Amino acid sequence: MILLNPGPVTLSARVRQALQQEDLCHREPEFAALTLDVRDRIEHIYPAAAADYAAVLVAGSGSCAVEAMLSTFAAHDRATLVVCNGVYGERMAQMLAQQRKPYVPLLLDWQGGIDVAKVEQALDAHPDVATLAVVHHETTTGRLNQLDELAALCQRRHIGLLVDAVSSFGGEEIPFERWQPLAIAATANKCLHGIPGVAFVLALREVLATPHGHATTLYLDLERYYVAQQQGWSPFTQPVQAFQALQEALREFAEGGGWQARQARFTALSNAVAQHLAAKGVQPLLGAGESSSMLRAYHLPARLPYDLLHDALKAHGFVIYAGQGALAAQIFRIATMGAIADGDLQRLLAAFDDVFAREA
Ligand SMILES: *Cc1c(COP(=O)(O)O)cnc(C)c1O
Repeated sequence: MILLNPGPVTLSARVRQALQQEDLCHREPEFAALTLDVRDRIEHIYPAAAADYAAVLVAGSGSCAVEAMLSTFAAHDRATLVVCNGVYGERMAQMLAQQRKPYVPLLLDWQGGIDVAKVEQALDAHPDVATLAVVHHETTTGRLNQLDELAALCQRRHIGLLVDAVSSFGGEEIPFERWQPLAIAATANKCLHGIPGVAFVLALREVLATPHGHATTLYLDLERYYVAQQQGWSPFTQPVQAFQALQEALREFAEGGGWQARQARFTALSNAVAQHLAAKGVQPLLGAGESSSMLRAYHLPARLPYDLLHDALKAHGFVIYAGQGALAAQIFRIATMGAIADGDLQRLLAAFDDVFAREA
């Protein structure tokens, strides 16, 4: 089966092989060495991050890293402005509500980009805002949010920038030197091609090293992890096999040319699918140049409800992804992350032809 959902991804043979290693206890020095290697590799994916940011690994999916980031860095006595143009922005607002922390949701149209003037107005209206949370790649629609202006605004106002980069980390440019984020959350099982089970936050070392006491739970307190992981240890049992798979995935990532190579590969696959579908009259949700490299959303063709399309493609060996929320009945999504070979792409295009010939 080839997975065209935005994580978990189709594994490469070598990452799958890495799951077959000897059993390892997370309190042994081999595990500490593994943790230090994985952290170091993550910190060097974007060279500008290496000096000032530390990777803190947590056991869980991408949402776990996002929740840990908000738990650790969003204050109790100052508000967080949450910029929302999709499911994942709105989820961050829900997380802060659940943490009983003050937040200001800025609810924008899911099909539009981020209007920085509106963010500025919201900041003017809420002078108690100390941090701003935003999604880089809003997987809901496939929009790659442009964050340069927003980051500059945060810097001018001394607001800590918290970024959900779960579905862009390793597949898009993340200019740490320009954005100067306080922290960025990401995961093993999207653009990095690891397995689900380990996620991470890259945060400013000097901030991690200063206890803030914001964390609402013991388990998701990144300051606690940071202290232990400096030597490769973790306060709790870690998903050892997920670490081993991530280490192999990061080796493969670096050998293949890093994020630039991955962005180019995802883009080539996405463009090939988009061109093929356009020729069949299937229209993209977003305009040219608005989408990320690794995911495109398309309007469902008339007379082809999502379930029918999904099931027909699954019979050919491909899993596509539904829309969420109000878009559920309108769109389908194709993610091009994971170990997808040229032959897989050709089979996918042929599968679309077959399904359209039968159903549309
Ligand atoms: C996948 C994703 C997440 C995390 O979702 P999980 O189901 O926890 O893996 C968070 N934010 C974005 C933008 C995502 O694409």
